[in-house]
Amino acid sequence: MLDHLSFTAPKPKTIAGAKHDWELVIGLEVHAQVASRAKLFSGASTQFGAEPNSNVAFVDAAMPGMLPVINEGCVALAVKTGLGLKAEINLKSAFDRKNYFYPDLPQGYQISQLYHPIVGEGEVIVDMGPGVARRVRIERIHLEQDAGKSIHDMDPHMSFVDLNRTGVALMEIVSRPDIRGPEEAAAYVGKLRQILRYLGTCDGNMQNGNLRADVNVSVCRPGDYEKFIETGDHSVLGTRCEIKNMNSMRFIQAAIEYEARRQIAIIEDGGTVVQETRLYDPDKGETRSMRSKEEAHDYRYFPCPDLLPLEIEQAWVDEIAASLPELPDEKKARFVKEFGLTEYDADVLTAEAENAAYFEEVAAGRDGKLAANWVINELFGRLKKDDRDITQSPVGPAQLGGIIDLITKGDISGKIAKDLFEIVYTEGGEPAEIVEARGMKQVTDTGAIEKVVDEIIAANPAQVEKAQQNPKLAGWFVGQVMKATGGKANPQAVNEIVAAKLGL
Ligand code: ADP
Ligand code: MG
Repeated sequence: MLDHLSFTAPKPKTIAGAKHDWELVIGLEVHAQVASRAKLFSGASTQFGAEPNSNVAFVDAAMPGMLPVINEGCVALAVKTGLGLKAEINLKSAFDRKNYFYPDLPQGYQISQLYHPIVGEGEVIVDMGPGVARRVRIERIHLEQDAGKSIHDMDPHMSFVDLNRTGVALMEIVSRPDIRGPEEAAAYVGKLRQILRYLGTCDGNMQNGNLRADVNVSVCRPGDYEKFIETGDHSVLGTRCEIKNMNSMRFIQAAIEYEARRQIAIIEDGGTVVQETRLYDPDKGETRSMRSKEEAHDYRYFPCPDLLPLEIEQAWVDEIAASLPELPDEKKARFVKEFGLTEYDADVLTAEAENAAYFEEVAAGRDGKLAANWVINELFGRLKKDDRDITQSPVGPAQLGGIIDLITKGDISGKIAKDLFEIVYTEGGEPAEIVEARGMKQVTDTGAIEKVVDEIIAANPAQVEKAQQNPKLAGWFVGQVMKATGGKANPQAVNEIVAAKLGL
């Protein structure tokens, strides 16, 4: 299936102003909110934008004596995610307590999976332009709880806390340090988001914080990364810094670029990079230190005594596997093969599962390339103008298919088809009926076209002379005929008749 891709060696990223060549090494820890209506260990709602502290069960608020109960639906979605990333599913996993104190974490610990995650090694194929891709290995995915939110800007003297998010299920998807540049990092997040949305396991809404990434960045000299791949030894790589909580692909790229330059400048000045957690400031375009490794929390992890180890059955995993939808890589490859599309077009059409489904309905029994052109150029272009997505399209696939059929039959020209599309888009209706009712049918009656051509030739003797000397100027006559017929004359017939009458 991936035969059409070339997995090129990453190009070393040269950093302007640096004395030496440097390469970037990047690993991402993505927190993806599980698309569940209830929390990981309680029945409280996960609805976004609810009144503060209205979605809080006793266990979320850590009331004494409250016990967590695992949400089977969240486990199923984590398994589904693992399967979608071609990963190993661990039939036995377990929850641990990660202890730290913070006002938005009333329990005083986060329930997570450090030692035995539910999903093991997988991979994401990251497309880097037509025919080129990179393979990013996934190390693990574990389930954990989200924390609440402290609000410091509502009152000059007090802070508030909103526990609506507390206990919401997150999947932490940890990549190997296989990402080699800022664009690749953004493309990786984009691909991961696309797969999660296809699977329906995370809605990927980055603005709402449903997909956020901790970005680990280090720099090394050419050759070091290959040594790491050969030996698996992290110590041949440079010291990394972790940029926390990024929820914009643009900022991820900018932060990595800044961070790489910062680290290279330190090393080339004879200093050493300190392993630390940093924050990106989008206003300044800089990262700044949040805490160093020395200040790092000692989380005192231990198995959560309130929860049994999580054991799932292979038969259940198989059932989930059988329910997986066709995923982006497979769909894209099929579109290229089945409809003869370019990789670029297939990419655009498979970006969202809904777009792909719409296209397939239009393309069924029709010319795939023509259908792709109409969906991408006309429909997507028009929707974008109105800031709509495909689910809000006023033109359904049957209507668009109807327009394409009229072109294919020769009933309307491509130009009239665009006018027709605009009518269907704004007023609705059945394309063939509109064409009939409004007299938009193409004139293929050669007698009628000849009459118009004769008139135009008779009225423009000077142009005739010019065109006879330079046949390229015959286009002027074609244009005049189209104008005179309101664009309804069959362009091919017009071309032929004009050429014949001018004696070209
Ligand atoms: P920790 O246990 O300290 O959190 P991990 O080994 O789990 O560290 O790595 C966390 C993340 O950092 C992973 O996504 C990994 O790919 C990435 N990472 C590890 N080493 C490097 C490095 N030298 N440069 C960039 N990223 C790295
Ligand atoms: Mg980690």
